[in-house]
Amino acid sequence: MRQFFRIKMFTIATGIVLFSTITIGILTLRYVAEKGSVLEISLVESNLSLVRQTLNRIELLIAQQDQTLYAYTSSATRDELLTRLQFPMGGDSRLVKQIYLLDSKEGTVLYPDAPDKNLARYFKRRLAEESKLGEMPPLSLHHLHTAIDGKYHLFTLLPFTLPEDEHSYLLLMEYQLDNLDLLFAPYVRELEPTNYVCIRDYDNNLIYGTPVQTTVKYFVEQRFPNTFYKWLFQLVPRNADAIEQEARNRRMLNIFLVVVDLLLLLSAWFLVYMSRREEIKLTRQKEEFIRNVSHELKTPLALIKMFSEILLMGRGQDERTRQEYLDVIFAETERMTHLVSNVLDFSNLEKGLQKFHFEDLPLDQVVRKHLEAFDYRMKKERVELTLDVQPGLPPIRGDRNAIALVLLNLLDNGIKYSAEKGKKIRIRIFAENSFVCLQVRDNGIGMLPEEIPRVFEKFYRSDNMTVRRVRGSGIGLSLVKYVVDSHGGTIQVESATGEGSSFTIRFPAREGAVPPSDPPTGPLTP
Ligand code: ADP
Repeated sequence: MRQFFRIKMFTIATGIVLFSTITIGILTLRYVAEKGSVLEISLVESNLSLVRQTLNRIELLIAQQDQTLYAYTSSATRDELLTRLQFPMGGDSRLVKQIYLLDSKEGTVLYPDAPDKNLARYFKRRLAEESKLGEMPPLSLHHLHTAIDGKYHLFTLLPFTLPEDEHSYLLLMEYQLDNLDLLFAPYVRELEPTNYVCIRDYDNNLIYGTPVQTTVKYFVEQRFPNTFYKWLFQLVPRNADAIEQEARNRRMLNIFLVVVDLLLLLSAWFLVYMSRREEIKLTRQKEEFIRNVSHELKTPLALIKMFSEILLMGRGQDERTRQEYLDVIFAETERMTHLVSNVLDFSNLEKGLQKFHFEDLPLDQVVRKHLEAFDYRMKKERVELTLDVQPGLPPIRGDRNAIALVLLNLLDNGIKYSAEKGKKIRIRIFAENSFVCLQVRDNGIGMLPEEIPRVFEKFYRSDNMTVRRVRGSGIGLSLVKYVVDSHGGTIQVESATGEGSSFTIRFPAREGAVPPSDPPTGPLTP
């Protein structure tokens, strides 16, 4: 039940992790995309403010020049005014083309004496047509930017009255537009190192500068607010392409980093998922192991109890039967001893307490000694055992008990996983290069190719029905593998279903030992 809830909780947690990963992914990607356009917008805005600043500076220059007009309005009489008009009143006189004095009501030009005829006609018409021009509050400055006969003019208008006659006059200052460099060059020059700049009118005619492309990104344009209001100031950054490329690169890098982050997150989640799966698998295997071990202990105990009771009650009919009962008791005790020592070794190994006492060992002698102890069971189970030992084998560095454990487990498996009749086990001990090899071969049920790599896993037991019928705990071969690894050896399995299995362990020969030159041949010394 707890396991069920744990799995459920893990599934919910997995859902949450996936959901939040996807949400974070989408939000971050959107943010990155938006940040890109924010960058573009801010670039356009900073260009716009650059243009505005430039226009303000140009208009300030004109406003300063405009102020000089006030000096004329302090004249007491028209004659004084006409005299004064012949001289500039400060500022930069190069900017001014001509100053005019107009009679606001009549629209006639009072100064200069011989004005440009076209202009004089224009002023007269405008003043007659537009009441606004005549009604401007006295001493307020206005600008008139207009094209007359296809040529642009900029006038500053200042209405005023003379104390002498209380008459309304209009002072006009015409700016010198024949040489626009005087007005614009200093400001444009400041912008030009990093921008293309020009001035155009609303009909797209170029007024000043080199024409800029209006269709490109980051193009900005702005009208002069007060003075040259029929003109547009246009600007395009010179490195627009580079800026765009950089923005694109940055966006790509950000997207790449987000994707990598997401992948890392998903891989981390995948690792957690895998380890969780592994943990669940291990828990199941442990549970099964406990079930198997309990069963393995219970069955022989029941048999031992039953047969010893019979013997104690003196119910054994004859000597042969009594001997058979004792055999059973002995065999089951053996089996239990083997299981308990396996479990103890395994638990020591799990706790890291397994310690080996290495010494120089003649492998064949250790094997022979333990085979003697196995003799009874071999006979009992009618196993035909052969032992081939190559003479002159060098010793190995090993732990006696550990090697006995290896041998017992391999033999036990060889007997367990074989047919009832005709069991044959062949043990070979031989030298191969700088190794001494122990091979245990049986003619039992064998294994499927996909089972072979798994047999050394803790608690692994084949799903094969024959195996399941045989008692086992699934720790024998994992112990064998641990011992072999600790001895610096290797273990190799060859098996085919129905034909039998062969386990070959290679222990490194003790250093300095000379391996025999004879190749391993048929049956040697039994
Ligand atoms: P146990 O024998 O207690 O199940 P082991 O670790 O010794 O545990 O073996 C693991 C599994 O490997 C066995 O359950 C069986 O499926 C398979 N196996 C081991 N030895 C042999 C063999 N000689 N023949 C066939 N299968 C074997």
